[in-house]
Amino acid sequence: MGVLAVVNLRSPREIALMRRAGLVVWGAHEIAAAMVRPGVSTGEIDAAVEAFFVQRGAVPLFKGVPGKVPFPAVCCISVNDEVVHGIPGPRILVEGDIVSIDTGCSLAGWCGDSARTHPVGTVSSGARGLLDCTSGVLELAIELMGKRNRWSDVATEMATYVRDRGFSVVENFVGHGIGKKMHEDPQVPNFCSPSFRRNYDFELETGLVIAVEPMVNMGSKKVRALADHWTQSTVDGQPSAHFEHTIAITSQGPEVLTRAPSDGESVPA
Ligand code: MG
Ligand code: MG
Repeated sequence: MGVLAVVNLRSPREIALMRRAGLVVWGAHEIAAAMVRPGVSTGEIDAAVEAFFVQRGAVPLFKGVPGKVPFPAVCCISVNDEVVHGIPGPRILVEGDIVSIDTGCSLAGWCGDSARTHPVGTVSSGARGLLDCTSGVLELAIELMGKRNRWSDVATEMATYVRDRGFSVVENFVGHGIGKKMHEDPQVPNFCSPSFRRNYDFELETGLVIAVEPMVNMGSKKVRALADHWTQSTVDGQPSAHFEHTIAITSQGPEVLTRAPSDGESVPA
């Protein structure tokens, strides 16, 4: 039984370049987060993020992604029961919504990818719990990446964390390796199956860079595609949340490449 996933390992120099892309993605999320309020349209948020990427010389990664229709925006914006891949547009956010914003860019040929889910005004305690669980399970995964040897062990503990809080992990969509392309091997599920452990598991070794992106549903884990060919929604109409970071394993441990700048860092101009 071997580890079959083919993984590109990155040098410290390459990880430093990916951190620059990650800082631009973080900056885009700050722009978006500041706009989230009742009365704003998802299309307005997307336009502001696109302008930010252009200003920073970054290439948006989502626009034009092939599908039945090419993805038309630089962010996926998914509201309430929408899980992922929502298309920004005229929809107006209202008090009590939860809105997932997912975006990525490349800078000097290296990619970053990150998602956050925001409350719009005051949300129900159930929705608050869903957001806390989903951001919490991402933080758990980051911590465990420095303590476990294989992804299957991290994924198993992620699924337990979510189940213990009464929610369900979406299984139709998974995280991914990331580097010169947004989507590279390996696949990075937020749950573990015997098939994954047998056929697709990978080691958490120095130089690994992956996008970890738990999607958590309040009710059923099942999702369905809407007629726009992109938006994925929960089958039961209950809300869903999504958080994502691009994370490298360095000799110092896990480093979140899409986190806020630390002392001495700034978003590339
Ligand atoms: Mg993403
Ligand atoms: Mg991703």
